[in-house]
Amino acid sequence: MTRELFLEIVVASGKGGVGKSTISSSLAILLKEKGYKVVLADADAEAPNLHLIFNISKWDKESDYYEGRIAYIKQDKCINCGICYDRCVFGAIEFSEGTYRVNPWICEGCYTCSFVCPVKAISFKFKVKSGMLRIVRETGYGFPLVSSEIVPGRPNSGKLVTEVKNIAKKIMRGNGILLIDAAAGIGCQVISSLAGANLAILVAEPTPASYSDLKRIHKLAKHFGIPSTLIVNKHDLDKEYLTKILDYASKENIQVLGLIPYDDAVPKALTQMAPLIKLYPDSKASKALIKIAEKLDSILSRWDEWRLEHIPSKIEPFKPIIIKPREESF
Ligand code: SF4
Ligand code: SF4
Repeated sequence: MTRELFLEIVVASGKGGVGKSTISSSLAILLKEKGYKVVLADADAEAPNLHLIFNISKWDKESDYYEGRIAYIKQDKCINCGICYDRCVFGAIEFSEGTYRVNPWICEGCYTCSFVCPVKAISFKFKVKSGMLRIVRETGYGFPLVSSEIVPGRPNSGKLVTEVKNIAKKIMRGNGILLIDAAAGIGCQVISSLAGANLAILVAEPTPASYSDLKRIHKLAKHFGIPSTLIVNKHDLDKEYLTKILDYASKENIQVLGLIPYDDAVPKALTQMAPLIKLYPDSKASKALIKIAEKLDSILSRWDEWRLEHIPSKIEPFKPIIIKPREESF
């Protein structure tokens, strides 16, 4: 029997390479086995890799994603003054063989050049292909996977991630768990992943870099008012940093879902392009993941109550640092 629930759960980490994709793929399988309707979303448009874990080489649906604009110079109008070249902060205007041209791979479509051009020689091409959206209806484990890939050099990967989530939500039709495997860091893709989510599963490993990045991603989750849980992967790497991470979780009311030991089975499963939990079900890491899924299930079973107990008490807005251009540069 399918269990009724409609939640967006984001698996996120401030630092890359801590095992998010292994954890997301295994949790998707384990939650499906517990009776939830699951849709898995790969929210790393710059480096998608969940399809590799499921050994998916053919997509059921693939469509181009168009977004944004790119400037171009009408050479018949250009008087070669070079003002646009000086003012484009992205360095997207190039000068070669006596001609100014826009490099379409760098242009952010910000309009500055068209404002400053004295002879209105700059126009825009709209609806530029920015990426691909991909769906596989059946991963082999009873749930679909939605993924994407940004065209190298195109901006706005965050919008592509939002589109991935929109497609996944349409597939869910108001029921199920949307499990989002976020990109690393705290950039626009991660912001898109967290926006509107109900629960964050933060993944860290006991290293100085991961501890520092955990605090940054948690601050972002708090900014969105999202309650957080924690998984410490490769927990046996360092006792001192494990203690620091667990102390931080306790102080910040982050429920620890579990600790996963270092296990050679993890890289072996990745090279064999199969989910760890299925390929090596008796491995130490798989056993830890099974316990983690049980703990997550117990949270979901009393979701409304748990949410009230763990919702961040103080929402921390991010204060942007605004760097104004120097007056004399204009
Ligand atoms: S639109 Fe902006 S980024 Fe593109 S060339 Fe013009 S100034 Fe540069
Ligand atoms: S500002 Fe206008 S006229 Fe001057 S180089 Fe650029 S496109 Fe040509």
